[in-house]
Amino acid sequence: MSRSETLFTEAVERIPGGVNSPVRAFGSVGETPRFIASAKGAYMTDADGQTYLDFVGSWGPMILGHNHPKVLADVLEACQEGLSFGAATEREVEMAELICSIVPSIEMVRMVNSGTEAVMSAVRAARGFTGRNKIIKFAGCYHGHSDAMLVKAGSGVMTAGIPDSAGVPAGCTQDTLTAVYNDLDSVQAIFDEFQGEIAAVIVEPVAANMGVVLPKKGFLEGLRKLCTDNGSLLIFDEVITGFRLSLSGAQGYFGIEPDLTTFGKIIGGGMPVGAYGGRKDVMKLIAPSGPVYQAGTLSGNPVAMAAGLAQLKLLKETPDFYEKLNHKADAFFEGMQEAVKAAGKPWTVNHIGSLGSIFFAEGPVTNYAEAKTSDTKKFGEYFSYMMQNSIYLAPSQFEAMFLSGAMTEEELVKTLDIFKAYLKQC
Ligand SMILES: *Cc1c(COP(=O)(O)O)cnc(C)c1O
Repeated sequence: MSRSETLFTEAVERIPGGVNSPVRAFGSVGETPRFIASAKGAYMTDADGQTYLDFVGSWGPMILGHNHPKVLADVLEACQEGLSFGAATEREVEMAELICSIVPSIEMVRMVNSGTEAVMSAVRAARGFTGRNKIIKFAGCYHGHSDAMLVKAGSGVMTAGIPDSAGVPAGCTQDTLTAVYNDLDSVQAIFDEFQGEIAAVIVEPVAANMGVVLPKKGFLEGLRKLCTDNGSLLIFDEVITGFRLSLSGAQGYFGIEPDLTTFGKIIGGGMPVGAYGGRKDVMKLIAPSGPVYQAGTLSGNPVAMAAGLAQLKLLKETPDFYEKLNHKADAFFEGMQEAVKAAGKPWTVNHIGSLGSIFFAEGPVTNYAEAKTSDTKKFGEYFSYMMQNSIYLAPSQFEAMFLSGAMTEEELVKTLDIFKAYLKQC
């Protein structure tokens, strides 16, 4: 038995499913998870000493690669000063100013500890501001595991939400309405049925939790207009896309201003950090300046802020960082699509910036129903082949590949060669 297998055998006895987040389990691809011992740059090394080129990047945060020396140095320095004070610190002011300077729609921002918390709080702020209860989300978009966001789309666009998880009372999701991604008519229909009741529309501006699904031309613009016309707030969940598609995230990339934005992942540089922010008139309602309560013992933690600040400053100050990364990524994902075509397979590669995914389906894949047509058994075979060749992928069809600035063109070309070899034998 490998060390990872031994650890997993022990883990399942004491940790549900052996993992502290379900996406880390390898069950859907019929394997046991690799236990990671260390990571550096573009690579991760597991407990058995096997090294992988990492296309997960901690599910997004490690856009500079693992353990960037500057991030590490700032974290170590912050540790020397104290791990937590439960009091205001200078780094939080610097972080808030930096975020507002990078993302024009953010006039005020509150730091939290995860993307889940950021979304939960932004939704509460939107409800507090509008005095309305209903939220529109899209099938296949993930917004963390808070009760109101765990809603299945299965029962049709117009129906009130049915909880996606045991333990979520129907009362918690009755105000969550589900629309079809890239289908403005489905959103319009909900606005028509619930006139004056919609507090907010929340959307991943690029969906990256059903595999990568791009917004069609006009979709985000249409949401902006529907929200403005109906007095509802538009919330961009940029937990993945923030500081990834461009420095100012998807909103900068597409030129659309949401009312509120949620962040996570990259914003913490590998530490547990989230944030939500946006219009001052909305954010001023947050306690203690307003009546919408939201708090956190470890929010704005100095060590976490040091990591996030170091990473964001590097991203801001590295010339052409996004241009170079996105260019490399385009070449890689287009190479994948060409290889698929050359092999005579009907499969689809969706990509934008440094995010992409392959669907074992004919495509186009523009929403959740289409994403679900992917042959997940094929995905499992592809996953295992790539892992055997030291390419670490997310162990699920419905996740993105995350490229990092630490990956070289040579490494990406090598990965493409492995992918081509997979296509030959499949
Ligand atoms: C990961 C993710 C979240 C949840 O963030 P956590 O830090 O895991 O709580 C929310 N929204 C999106 C779009 C995400 O990708």
